[in-house]
Amino acid sequence: MLVRLIYASRVQPDVGPGDIDQILQVSQANNARDGITGALCYTGSVFLQCLEGGRDQVNAAYHRIVADARHSDPLLLGLREIAQRDFTEWGMGYVGYTAENRALFLKYCPRPEFDPYTMSGASVEALFQALIGVARWKSAR
Ligand code: FAD
Repeated sequence: MLVRLIYASRVQPDVGPGDIDQILQVSQANNARDGITGALCYTGSVFLQCLEGGRDQVNAAYHRIVADARHSDPLLLGLREIAQRDFTEWGMGYVGYTAENRALFLKYCPRPEFDPYTMSGASVEALFQALIGVARWKSAR
């Protein structure tokens, strides 16, 4: 059975770009091994991550991830069974919060600053769908 899990967490103050590279490197290797796909958004102060894959594998990854001292206050925003994956091309895609995509992030957020803690599961799923759309459009150009 396939599931999709989305959570938000707060970045620890001492975490910087080098840590993000290291997290992505380990994630891509582990997720390829475990058949997990998804994306990680990093704004500088919060993470928003989507994990898709087998229920047992996603469950095990989530437990490993929330125990990681590089972030805190994990909030589960969505967990549901899915018929198919959305992130077929991303073992763990990375999306930074840039001036270019700021409007897209804010489109789904009730606050003037991006804050996934205030968002519904439906809105964060819609945001990830939009981010996939932009990535596909860019890679097709
Ligand atoms: P290990 O051999 O235990 O560690 C691999 C490397 O990570 C080591 O070099 C170690 O120095 C470093 N490391 C591990 N834990 C920490 C820590 N707490 N602080 C500093 N350095 C550390 N893992 C996934 O497998 N898939 C994911 O999608 C994923 N997403 C993540 C998203 C976020 C926001 C964060 C913070 C972490 C994520 N991780 C993910 C990493 C996860 O928390 C574990 O560190 C990792 O899964 C451990 O894998 P391992 O046992 O193979 O590696």
